[in-house]
Amino acid sequence: MEINGKTRTCGLIGYPVEHTLSPVIHNTLAGLTGHDLVYVPFPVEPGRIQDAVRGADALQILGLNVTVPYKSEVIACLQEVDTMAQNIGAVNTLVRTPGGYKGYNTDMEGLYRAMISEGIRIEGERILLLGAGGAARAVAHLCAMKGAEQVYMLNRTLDKAKQVAEEVNRVAGREVICPMLLQEYDKIPDGQYLAIQGTSVGLAPQDDKVVISDRAFYEKIHTGFDLIYNPWETRFMSLVRECGGRAYNGLKMLLYQGIIAYELWNDIRVPEEDTQIIYGKLQEYFGQIP
Ligand code: NAP
Repeated sequence: MEINGKTRTCGLIGYPVEHTLSPVIHNTLAGLTGHDLVYVPFPVEPGRIQDAVRGADALQILGLNVTVPYKSEVIACLQEVDTMAQNIGAVNTLVRTPGGYKGYNTDMEGLYRAMISEGIRIEGERILLLGAGGAARAVAHLCAMKGAEQVYMLNRTLDKAKQVAEEVNRVAGREVICPMLLQEYDKIPDGQYLAIQGTSVGLAPQDDKVVISDRAFYEKIHTGFDLIYNPWETRFMSLVRECGGRAYNGLKMLLYQGIIAYELWNDIRVPEEDTQIIYGKLQEYFGQIP
């Protein structure tokens, strides 16, 4: 693209930011939609998040994505926070407004759109959720909000799962999240479940790792969704498939959280054909043939 005097800037703040795929998503989108916009990563050193947000506002940066470790810390630097992001307690997208930035959480709406695109539903489902960290906590809110019947949240540290369950159940006004220790998976009632893998176990280079390896657990899963997308097929996904279920990785979640952020910054709806072009580019990046 040709940068000129009117080119607007968007970007990513986090630490580190070197491995991000977001520039591929947003710069390709700018080309496809014809917006005069450039997207760049900005590493923000620990302790400098407030300076970064103030500086971005002064520089009239149109929008920012926020990644680890600032998704919660950034909230104190914002003018306004969208209700869903407020409930989740994490923001991954900032939109510049006349008084400062407004924060959103497009990770969860991204996961939801990714699931819809694969024909997966949350409404009325019984769900197994692995993990209780930042991502799993947000998934728990999403499941409660979208009408899951019951969510068994399994985590290595029970206290963390209990804390998340208490918070989500309070917001939802019903006992939808049931916290459990990981090794208590054999106490899950019989039936067929949607499973969402939200721990960091299995992330490259530890491709062969998985939090539960017992096949009896995987036989209860009709569909498995791993938030991890590197490796392309995680051990969790292979086990789901070997036991007869369908399995998906987290790349479409990453894609759609970016699409939704771009829509917020530019006040448009990105056409599905453009989304598919970008998905093809991301697949190529992982050596997959689109
Ligand atoms: P986090 O806050 O650090 O949470 C990590 C989770 O993994 C916790 O539940 C932790 O359990 C569990 N865990 C870590 N090591 C473990 C082990 N050895 N055995 C058992 N459990 C273990 O991380 P996060 O931000 O939630 O991210 C989780 C994953 O989601 C990451 O792999 C990330 O790449 C992925 N993610 C993907 C997207 C996307 O767009 N696709 C977006 C966000 C995140 P304890 O509570 O017991 O420590």
